[in-house]
Amino acid sequence: MYKEDCIFCKIVQKKISANIVYEDELCLGFKDINPVTPVHILFIPKKHITSLDEVYEEDVNLIGHVLLNISKYARKEGLVERGYRVVNNIGKDAGQSVFHIHFHLLAGRRFSWPPG
Ligand code: AMP
Repeated sequence: MYKEDCIFCKIVQKKISANIVYEDELCLGFKDINPVTPVHILFIPKKHITSLDEVYEEDVNLIGHVLLNISKYARKEGLVERGYRVVNNIGKDAGQSVFHIHFHLLAGRRFSWPPG
C-alpha cells in the first residue's frame, strides 16, 4: 500500500505535513508546495502507484474515483465557469519529479496550448 521512501506516501500517513483540502478513504487532495497557478492542488490515490504507466485493471475504479473527486472539488470551489486544467506527468520528458501518481488541478489563470 505505502512505499517507505515516498514523500506522498508520507503525506498520506501524516508523517509529514501538507495543506490538505480534500480527503476520503481512497484519495487525498493537498496544495502544491510550489504553486505555478493561483489554484494548484495535487490529487493522489492513497495507494502507492508510481505513475499512469503502472496503473492496471485493478486500479481503474481507484483512478476514476480520484478524477471524479477532482471535478467535484472544482465544482465546489467555483472553478468550472472559468475552467481549469488537470495535468498528469509521466516520466522524464514530461517532468515527473515525484513518483507517486498525482494529478495537478490548475486554475485561476488562462492557460496556453500547446503546453510548454
Ligand atoms: P511532478 O513534477 O508532476 O512530478 O509534480 C510534483 C509536484 O509535487 C511539484 O509540483 C512539487 O511542487 C510538488 N511537491 C513536491 N513535494 C511536495 C510536498 N511535500 N508537498 C506538496 N507538494 C509537493
